[in-house]
Amino acid sequence: MANVRIERLHKEFRGAGGIVHALADLTLDIADGEFISLVGPSGCGKTTALRIIAGLETPTSGRILFDGRDITRLEPRDRNIAMVFQSYALYPHMTVRQNLEYGLRKRGAPRDERARKVAAIAAMLRIEPMLDRRPLQLSGGQRQRVALGRALIRDPEVFLLDEPLSNLDAKLRVHMRAELAALHQKVRTTMVYVTHDQLEAMTLSDRIVVMNHGVMQQVGRPEEIYSRPANRFVAEFIGTPSMNMIEGQVRTEAGRPLFTGPGITVVLPRDAPQALPSSGRATLGIRPEHVSLVAPDAPGAIPARVTVSELAGPERFHFVAVEGGSIIVRTPAATVLHPGETVALGFDPDRLHLFDGTGEDAP
Ligand code: ADP
Ligand code: MG
Repeated sequence: MANVRIERLHKEFRGAGGIVHALADLTLDIADGEFISLVGPSGCGKTTALRIIAGLETPTSGRILFDGRDITRLEPRDRNIAMVFQSYALYPHMTVRQNLEYGLRKRGAPRDERARKVAAIAAMLRIEPMLDRRPLQLSGGQRQRVALGRALIRDPEVFLLDEPLSNLDAKLRVHMRAELAALHQKVRTTMVYVTHDQLEAMTLSDRIVVMNHGVMQQVGRPEEIYSRPANRFVAEFIGTPSMNMIEGQVRTEAGRPLFTGPGITVVLPRDAPQALPSSGRATLGIRPEHVSLVAPDAPGAIPARVTVSELAGPERFHFVAVEGGSIIVRTPAATVLHPGETVALGFDPDRLHLFDGTGEDAP
């Protein structure tokens, strides 16, 4: 096991279309035994970061340290890492057992050590009955377990996973997510996990790194990222359905900061002024579960009309039209609203987020 330090990492790719800044100034300390996820939209630099940690890609500048040792120039095979990809990359002509012990064989490990390790890994991943089958005779989930097993058997210091579940169907993905979490509990190896799926990152990780355009937007525990997003990008990327965003103005009235948008006036918490933009233009964010249905004559009630109500298991998502656009309200399933119905909305004052500007000026 090892802690990993990523220090001022930059990566540029030069191609016919010019220079792509795949990573810009990424600095991150990953604790020994931590499960950390890099999450962000396609093309934000997740795979590039992982490949640099693995030694499959050379950074334009910056360093990688394992337990304080600079390994930036080491070959992948000298780094004591294991990597699992989205495509399982198993050898189709070999049995599961042969796939599992391939790395050990190449290292010249004796037969009894190989047998012992294969047995332990197969038991842990519950693939014992499949040891003499070939990958094509396995289901997608079983193949993914073999790929994990092949990486684990080498007892790596650092485990790197690049979207390992994205080829599985939705149900199996949820199941394998739980298995991965249990696996990490057991082996406690440092894991760096790459995914574009924020829910996967939220459920699996000790900490999450949110990236956009090669730039780290925020790093923190899942609940921190969810409840205190550092900027509008993070706020909108994390959470389903997405945070409601209302564009408008902020100003101070009688010593209290006020947000006004189309048909909406909201008194902001007193600590909001430090975030007040000089232009006065701002975006107010509120998660669907922090919008409630209130009496029409309640102070600050926002009039709205129901467009669509969706039942999603134990809860409902109501899409309602307000003067400036559309807002999603999340309620228990028992709250039934009908299209065309008029309602009044209240925003939980402790759960408001204020972002500078009105959108296009992302970092
Ligand atoms: P992600 O894994 O988050 O989807 P990547 O790390 O694969 O993103 O890519 C980041 C950026 O770098 C993208 O713009 C991508 O097109 C570019 N890129 C990645 N690899 C190469 C390469 N070998 N040559 C040129 N550009 C690349
Ligand atoms: Mg990728």
